[in-house]
This record gives sequence, structure tokens and C-alpha cells, in this order.
Amino acid sequence: MYQEAVEKAVAHYRDLLLSQIDRAEKMNNVPAPAKKEKTVIGVVGGDGIGPIITAQAQRALEALLADEIKAGTIELRTIEGLTIENRLAVGKAVPDDVLAEIKACDVLLKGPTTTPSGGEQLESANVALRRELDLYANVRPVCVPEEGIDWMFFRENTEGEYTLGSKGIEIPGLLTMDFKVTTVAGTRRIARAAFEFARKNGKTHVAIVTKSNIMKKTDGMFSILCREIAAEYPEIQADEYFIDIMSANLLKANMRSQLQVFVMPNLYGDIITDEAAQIQGGVGTAGSANIGDTCAMFEAIHGSAPRMIARGMGDYANPESILRAAVMLLQHIGMPDKAAKLTAAIETANRTAPITGTREGASCAQFGDAVIAAL
Ligand code: NAD
Repeated sequence: MYQEAVEKAVAHYRDLLLSQIDRAEKMNNVPAPAKKEKTVIGVVGGDGIGPIITAQAQRALEALLADEIKAGTIELRTIEGLTIENRLAVGKAVPDDVLAEIKACDVLLKGPTTTPSGGEQLESANVALRRELDLYANVRPVCVPEEGIDWMFFRENTEGEYTLGSKGIEIPGLLTMDFKVTTVAGTRRIARAAFEFARKNGKTHVAIVTKSNIMKKTDGMFSILCREIAAEYPEIQADEYFIDIMSANLLKANMRSQLQVFVMPNLYGDIITDEAAQIQGGVGTAGSANIGDTCAMFEAIHGSAPRMIARGMGDYANPESILRAAVMLLQHIGMPDKAAKLTAAIETANRTAPITGTREGASCAQFGDAVIAAL
């Protein structure tokens, strides 16, 4: 009865498998980045509150990097067109001309982008960019000093449920299937990134977070490969946790201060880092880095907040998240002093122009003014 649909699905699955074999093989042949005279920082506003908050981070970078911009060693390049209207019009997660401009940059500061859910098959711009630029490590710090929390999350960023998220199979009226992909090279490189970070920063513990008791092939291999990499770092204790209990552990006072570095597949990382950000004070306070071997993209961890825009509250969005992303960008391009200066200015602005999410608190632009004043 379903023969035609099954045959179509099997052919589709075969194409997917071949495309993933191709991707996995290419991962072993990534060229080393060329040394450049000038660092180009692309600034992409995105949708909803994206352009509003990104404008404040751009102001801060312009102020901090004024000398380098004047000397021509850094360029801040505004990239237009990564909007939901434009993406829907051309039917592409990232329009070709925008992607070409993005690829010409060394690093990116990106505002959140809207992804239509369900029926409309437009892929997430973020997922597409992470794949196109091979930004395999999603790195998210969460810090609550008064509670002894100093966490660093390493979320695998290009595989898992996301790589084929819009390419599932449907037998209409009966069932749907999506796919999860884990590669050997993809797992090794995220595990290495986490353990290298731990070693370089004097951390003594890495939590490997999976659901390998259920997802036996994909998470099972993720777990085995992380343990293999862990064996090369004997000074670091590596423990495996399942994602469900780890979500609970983050809320347990005596447990959470023991945790330091986390490494995990894509979907678990997506979910648990929002939980962690909430512990820090909300998704509006957290930045994140998407790092690859040749390019890196820095962004807020939250989305485009369409409901905030619909309520006319967009101008009161908190830009702290994207400012924290700008801090990570400065660290990444080798400017730790400027990164520290921006962190201090954000903390000052939190005292002098606190955002409350209401019209009684500071607006996004007023928070930005306070950051500039503190710089
Ligand atoms: P969201 O993160 O946009 O909003 C969740 C909640 O947090 C809302 O109540 C919102 O008002 C609040 N919020 C978010 N950022 C804030 C800020 N800076 N200041 C104050 N409050 C803030 O999540 P959502 O509603 O699930 O997603 C909206 C859209 O964003 C969807 O299309 C989704 O796909 C997309 N999204 C994009 C990214 C990205 O580009 N990196 C990440 C997540 C979601």
C-alpha cells in the first residue's frame, strides 16, 4: 500500500547517506588557515531584536578597536540581507550573495535569526552557517561566582539531529522520521577542543554528556571516542553522565559547583546551555562562540524574540548577550585586554543602566550608552 512512498524514502535515504559519507571524508582534509594582514569582522544584524542588540555591540567594538580600524589592521564590515523576509523570498537558509560576503570575513558577530518551525521547510540560517563555515565547536561560558559556578560548555555544532534536520522522511498520514548523524572525525575534534581547553585553563574535570543508553549507535560512539581522547589527558578526570540527570545536576547546589567543562552532542548542548544561561540570569545574559578551523562566529545564545517585537518592547531587549559574544570575539582574535575592558564595562552598565525587560528599566540603547561611557 505504501510501496511508492517507501521506495521514494529509500532513495532519499541513500542520497543522504552518500552525502554524509562525503562530508565525513572531507572533514579529514581541512586546509590550515592562511595568515592575514587584516582581520575582517562581519557584523550581521539578523531578525527581530537582532539588529537592535547587535547595533550596541557594534558601537562597543568600534570604540574599542578605533585605533586598529584607523590603521587598517581590522575592518568592521556590515553585512545586510540575512533577514527572514529575504531568506523566504529566495527560499534559502542563507542567500548566496550573503553567504559569499560572510565567507569573505574572518570572524562574524551575528544577531539572532528567525527560523519558521514545522511545515515551512526553510532550514535554520544558523545551522546552515555552522555547516557552510564548518563551525564545529559551540562554546558557551556560564559564570555565577557567588555560587562557585564557572562552566564551559563544548557543544558539537554541525552534526547530531541538526545536520539532516530538514531532510527527514514522511509517509503522509502515517509517520515521520528524522535522522541523527555522528561522525568519527566530528566527535574527535569536539572532544579534543574540550580537553585542550581544560588542559590550557587548569581544569581538572570534563563531563561527557550523552544518552548512550538509548541512542546506542550515535551517542554510543560519541561516548567511546570521548573516552579515547580523555586517555590522552591523564591529569583530567572524565566522567560520563546521561543528559537527563545532568539537567537535574545543574540545579543541585552541592553538585553544580563541582562541574567545570562539558562536552556533548548538538541537541543536548542546545537545550542544556539555555538551562545553564537561565541559572546565570537569563538567556539575555549569555554569549556563545561557534568556532571552526578557518572561521568563527559569535552570537547571543537566544533567538530573535518575536513576541518582544510584537509587544512593541524590542527597544528594551537586553544587549548583554551579544556584548558577551563580542567579548569572546575579542578573546578569539587575540585581544584579551580589550575583552577584559568590555567585560568590565558590561558589569558597570548592569549597575548604572539595569535592564528590567519593562519600560521602567533602561532601554537597549541606554545600556549601550552606559557601556560606551564605561569604556
Ligand atoms: P527566544 O530566545 O527568541 O525568546 C525566548 C524568551 O526570551 C522570550 O520571552 C524573549 O522575549 C526572551 N528574550 C530573548 N532574548 C532576549 C533579550 N536579549 N532580552 C530580553 N529578553 C529576551 O526564543 P524563541 O521564542 O524560542 O525563538 C524565536 C525565534 O528565534 C525562532 O524563530 C527561533 O528559531 C529563533 N532562534 C534563533 C537563534 C539564533 O539565531 N542563534 C537561537 C534560538 C532561537
